[in-house]
Amino acid sequence: MIDSRRKLLTVALGECWHSNYISVDGKCYECGQKIHPLQLLLSRRTFATADDYEALREKVIIPHSEAFSEYVWDKWNCGDNSSDGPFSWWLKKSVKERNEIICDFGKEVLGWEGSDD
Ligand SMILES: [Zn+2]
Repeated sequence: MIDSRRKLLTVALGECWHSNYISVDGKCYECGQKIHPLQLLLSRRTFATADDYEALREKVIIPHSEAFSEYVWDKWNCGDNSSDGPFSWWLKKSVKERNEIICDFGKEVLGWEGSDD
């Protein structure tokens, strides 16, 4: 997943993406958290793991479950509808694919605004 989308999802979770540079006393300019410079990039979520998906499920899917179900239904219905149904279609997606779809949902339905895509 590209950085601008990772950043959108991170912010949607209520977490800090962290500034690209840290202050002289080693703190993020956005949230003030102390971060070692070598840990900065590693401290960001990749949205390639089940943990990241689980966090998105709790913070994005569950609060908008009805809208999300409709969104998945539409995605499944206009194209890739060879499987048994939208729910099975969703479950067959990898964690990475699901996180990308959640990002599309946020942008298209919830009005998340990204900077460069
Ligand atoms: Zn931060």
